Amino acid sequence: MGDRLATRLHRVPPTIFTTMSALATRTGALNLGQGFPDRDGPDAVVEAAVEALRGGRNQYAPGPGVPELRAAVAAHQARHYGIELDPASQVLVTAGATEAIAAAILALVNPGDEVVVLEPFYDSYVACIEMAGGVRRPVTLRAPGFRIDLDDLRAAATDRTKLILLNSPHNPTGAVLTRAELAEVARLAVEHDTLVVTDEVYEHLRYDGRAHVPICTLPGMWDRTVSISSAGKTFSFTGWKVGWATGPADLVATVYSAKQWLTFSNAAPLQPAIAHALDQEAGFYDLLAKDLQAKRDLLCDGLSRLDLDVFVPEATYFVSTDVRRYGHADAKAFCLALPERAGVVAIPSQAFYDDQEEGRHMVRWAFCKEAAVIEEGIRRLGTADLRA
Ligand code: PMP
Ligand code: GLN
Repeated sequence: MGDRLATRLHRVPPTIFTTMSALATRTGALNLGQGFPDRDGPDAVVEAAVEALRGGRNQYAPGPGVPELRAAVAAHQARHYGIELDPASQVLVTAGATEAIAAAILALVNPGDEVVVLEPFYDSYVACIEMAGGVRRPVTLRAPGFRIDLDDLRAAATDRTKLILLNSPHNPTGAVLTRAELAEVARLAVEHDTLVVTDEVYEHLRYDGRAHVPICTLPGMWDRTVSISSAGKTFSFTGWKVGWATGPADLVATVYSAKQWLTFSNAAPLQPAIAHALDQEAGFYDLLAKDLQAKRDLLCDGLSRLDLDVFVPEATYFVSTDVRRYGHADAKAFCLALPERAGVVAIPSQAFYDDQEEGRHMVRWAFCKEAAVIEEGIRRLGTADLRA
């Protein structure tokens, strides 16, 4: 198999999420690795999907998405951020944020083009940049605060930069980019005439009153930004894979030119259900954020009682820790041993770094789980021998 693999995939490792979730299934360990909630989203949204299934919405949806979902995405952007979108030309429905990211990168990046990307990075970014033949220029967010080092950013963004790939709120660090950080990204994007693709799937899952600022709302940014989000995180339906890309009509059309050859169109009966969710269920994600904040605190407190350095996240499903005080220089070895030692699965964050030294000792834990699961995970970790 190995030597048959096309060269565009030679430098792309298998996704860590499959590896670690398979390990959890095989060992029966608690899965605090892959980020998916163990409680589904609103019943009314499931009912809307059932109604669509029974109501004959079972043939191909229009390639760019069903009109009611495109309208609902536009209304959501207007309500939350004051962004006015034409649903017919400025909203594209995709197979989760994952397809939007892939289509945007494949449609916008030529071989040899430089892509500035925040490190640690969500793993599909690496795969898509590699498949497009792009060149990564990572800007590392460092513990404990995981802020953008503006000097590093200025050094990475040059006239060779085609695209700045942002992610805020950020997986895996949980950082929410501040208006000042975004303003510097915007200034550099304008100075070097780059495009920006921004992955905002955790836009609603923020804690302690932190605000989410879509970078497309900053001066000079609208015409150069593709914004991406998804119903997976916002409505706890990660398995539905309904996402979207929005932006100026020419950029959305450009993304569509790749998207049409990836999936052509997406799950027809789920789209009206997500339209219903966006139109009617805003209360769900407000409550979800409060619930997740309490779970963040539960997991962070529990991990702090162990011999770990805990970096409390501002948003998302995840908390990062440094495992060196346990004598583990290599978090991958730590995570591979964890199911046997403690009956728990977590993600070694080095999968999200080019700079292996920076990520070697970092472990990511998910708290989008029932409180009893988190408590049991902490209990197991507390009674296990975790030393190297
Ligand atoms: N971007 C980030 C930062 C993510 O964490 C994830 C996974 N939840 C995705 C994109 C993929 O989203 P989707 O499941 O909608 O494809
Ligand atoms: N986004 C989720 C995570 O970061 C999982 C996505 C996936 O499995 N590809 O854990």
